[in-house]
Amino acid sequence: MKYVTEYRGADLVRGILTQIRETITQPWVIMEICGGQTHAIVRHGLDQLLPEEIELVHGPGCPVCVTSLELIDKALAIASMPNVILTSYGDMLRVPGSGRDLFSVRASGGDVRVVYSPLDAVRIAQENPDREVVFFAIGFETTAPPNAMAVVQAKALGLENFSMLVSHVRVPPAMHAILGSPRNRVQGFLAAGHVCAVMGYWEYGPIAEQYGVPIVVTGFEPVDIARGILHVVRLLENDQAVAENAYKRAVTLEGNRPAQELIQRVFESCDRKWRGIGMIPQSGWRLRPEFSAFDAETRFDVQAIQPRESPLCIAGEILQGLKKPFDCTAFGNQCTPESPLGATMVSSEGACAAYYRYGRIEIEAEAR
Ligand code: SF4
Repeated sequence: MKYVTEYRGADLVRGILTQIRETITQPWVIMEICGGQTHAIVRHGLDQLLPEEIELVHGPGCPVCVTSLELIDKALAIASMPNVILTSYGDMLRVPGSGRDLFSVRASGGDVRVVYSPLDAVRIAQENPDREVVFFAIGFETTAPPNAMAVVQAKALGLENFSMLVSHVRVPPAMHAILGSPRNRVQGFLAAGHVCAVMGYWEYGPIAEQYGVPIVVTGFEPVDIARGILHVVRLLENDQAVAENAYKRAVTLEGNRPAQELIQRVFESCDRKWRGIGMIPQSGWRLRPEFSAFDAETRFDVQAIQPRESPLCIAGEILQGLKKPFDCTAFGNQCTPESPLGATMVSSEGACAAYYRYGRIEIEAEAR
């Protein structure tokens, strides 16, 4: 497949790994911000092929993982109401809330439907004028444009039975939170190519400069990731704290302007709670006042929810690069994909799910 197969070549990866070995002179901690990159790294065993001086830590770029427990509990409460159809991406159905998940609400008779696009939810609202249709809008900058488009379309259609439970988050404020923490270990970042395809990477240069940390935009195939790491290592070894683009086939400095304009038209910045991490200032988007009629949080009475997180779950530490999944005492025993305690064990972009799916639990056990 063009633009995919040629970026999976083992010989190419080996060549880049050789260049990394020839460049590196000291230990470095590098964070891949995106959970999609985490899965690619663990699936292809890239972290085990790198020189031992490099430690890869896994970032918070998994929208299912960082959606706050409070919002998940609100989704569960709304989905349990009569006359409601709650629509969501499939990953969200198994994410544990304080006591249950959307699957169990569906099993109890709630109308919870998996959709592949927010526009599917708009169509369901058109087809069910007597029902309230809610779309659980989670995601980073990548899913914001289609979600914004769905709200614009619902308004144009005059739909009064469509609303969104919005949980949008943004990458740059999360980078500030990680790098500004006194516990920070991250010395270099791999930034997510799909986010930068929408937003560009102009915001990353000032962050790199402020914290003295290089940031390299890269993709999701093994060659892309290895090349991104090589770029970061070269910058670290040369003491250059700049933002670079190693994913030029998809990303430009300024990004997709029409998509950014659509986001700005529908959403405005707000403080947002990240699951396991806490409140990050100006890290989210919410609907602008002119679209408030589509805000599910005001349409439904769900303000008094008190979330309860599993005391065993250390996902927040993992998502900040402070711990690894096998540091969690529940990993692989009390917490599995079949019986998850935290969202990072459920999501297709979660670090715990990646370690579990690709056998890191056995590898760790053998090493001990
Ligand atoms: S293994 Fe489960 S309980 Fe432990 S951090 Fe991961 S999601 Fe949380």
